[in-house]
This record gives sequence, C-alpha cells and structure tokens, in this order.
Amino acid sequence: MAVERLSSMISSLSDIQSRLQQLRNAPPSLLKSSMPFSSPSIRHDFQQLKELADTIRSDSVQEALRTATNSERADKSDLNRNGRRETRKRRRPPSPDSPQPFIPYDTRSSSLFPVTSDEPPALRAHELAGYIREFNPTHSCKLHIWTRIPGSTQLGNPAVVRFTIRDVLVCYVTMAYAPSDPVLVIETEKKSPHSQSDFLVYQSLSQQIAKMLQSHPRVSFQSLMNLMCTYEGIFIDRCTSCERVLSAEGHVPPVVRIWLDAGKDSKGRWEPRHASCPQT
Ligand SMILES: [Zn+2]
Repeated sequence: MAVERLSSMISSLSDIQSRLQQLRNAPPSLLKSSMPFSSPSIRHDFQQLKELADTIRSDSVQEALRTATNSERADKSDLNRNGRRETRKRRRPPSPDSPQPFIPYDTRSSSLFPVTSDEPPALRAHELAGYIREFNPTHSCKLHIWTRIPGSTQLGNPAVVRFTIRDVLVCYVTMAYAPSDPVLVIETEKKSPHSQSDFLVYQSLSQQIAKMLQSHPRVSFQSLMNLMCTYEGIFIDRCTSCERVLSAEGHVPPVVRIWLDAGKDSKGRWEPRHASCPQT
C-alpha cells in the first residue's frame, strides 16, 4: 500500500483524536450555571460535535479505521505489553480530584434541595450586605464578604462570601451577577481563594456540596445557607441510616444531607447521612 495513503490515513485519525480530546472539555463548561444555554460557545461546541461525527462517518475515515483494526490484528508484536500495569492503575479508586460524573439538572424534580413554593426570592447583589447583617446575629454560623483588596467595601463580581462554623469549617461561596439582572448565581466551579483541604472529610463535603449545586444550579443563596448551617454538628451528628457518627467504611462523618419534606406534625428538615449509606 502506498506510503502516502497510509500517512494520510494516520494524519486523519490523529486529527480526529485531537478534536475528540478538545470536545471532552465541553460538558464541564455546560455546567457553568452563569452561562446562558444558548451562549455562542456552546452552540460552537455542538457544531463541532456534529462536524466530528460527520467526519467519522465519512468513507475515508471509516476505511482508515478498518485498515488500522486489520493492521493491529495482523501485528503479532506485543504493543500492549504495558497492559497489565495499565489495568492495575485503572483499578485504583478515584482520587477526590477526579472529575465528577455529569449530573443532569434540567428538571426541577432532580434537585437535591427542597423545592417549595415559599422559597425566598433569590438574593440580589445589593441585598447581600443586608442579608449578612441580619444573618450573623441570629445564627451561630457567620458570613463575611471576602474581598481581594483588604478593607475594600466594593462588592466584587463574582462576589465571594466566607462562611464559617467556628472550630468546624470555613468555606467560600462564589457568586456571579449581571449588572442588568443582579441575581446572585452560585458558581459550582472550585475556584475558592484558598486551596482544597487536605482532610478527607472536607474533600467529601465539598464534593457533596458541588453535587447538590449541580442538581439545582439556580438555588438561592439563602437555601444554600440553610443547608450549610446543618454542618455545625458534622462531628457529633449520627447518620440517620446506620446511626453511627463515623462511617464503618472510611471513618468519615455524615457529609450527605437528605431533605425530608414537612409531615403532618413535623417541619421539613435536612437529615445527615453517610455518603456510603443508602440515600433513600
Ligand atoms: Zn451511615
């Protein structure tokens, strides 16, 4: 077979591979709640996906793929001699930094936050300071507006709020807003001013919060704060499933919160649960 033909096949396959790699970055950007769905960059991604699919279906690429498969089958030299090592590597449990599986969120019913009719209206940028002034004296958890320039009174965009439960945890909530529509939208990306915690419990906690935010990207700041306050007892509260503080597996406190709707005689509440215990 002509060398030119083979090398053109190889280059078209490599081109497909690099386009595929590029498209893999598209789903995380879809999760950015602050981005309207019809944004040009997402439309561009879909266009790219369609074009790539068309290219893969084309006769020349299909022939290149067939040639590659046949050539691999005919080749007795052990190209996969590292196969065993790779398998072992793949079996390792995912590290906390591994990308999380995509969680669809288009339906309100998939929300892990309570969806109630009496939910307070979403907080607007200019209402944040007032909300914090009312929040702090009435809660044992505290909120502070974090600014890049110490002493600055100008609210940044995105606005960063530090949430503190004394002796338990500190976390940062980043919220973007548009000048025309100053509703605060919580960002789900991990872009806190401080690096991630070294402790497993805080790593699983931030994974859990990220998962919940993805289930309801437009959740109000107030609802998120109601949830966050329940972590005050994270080191003493028992999991409502196994009734232990530390999970049998991994010895992690209950970082998951399950919302229970109000019953006849009870108010709606968040119940602590281990990530390793049943969630229903
Ligand atoms: Zn449990």
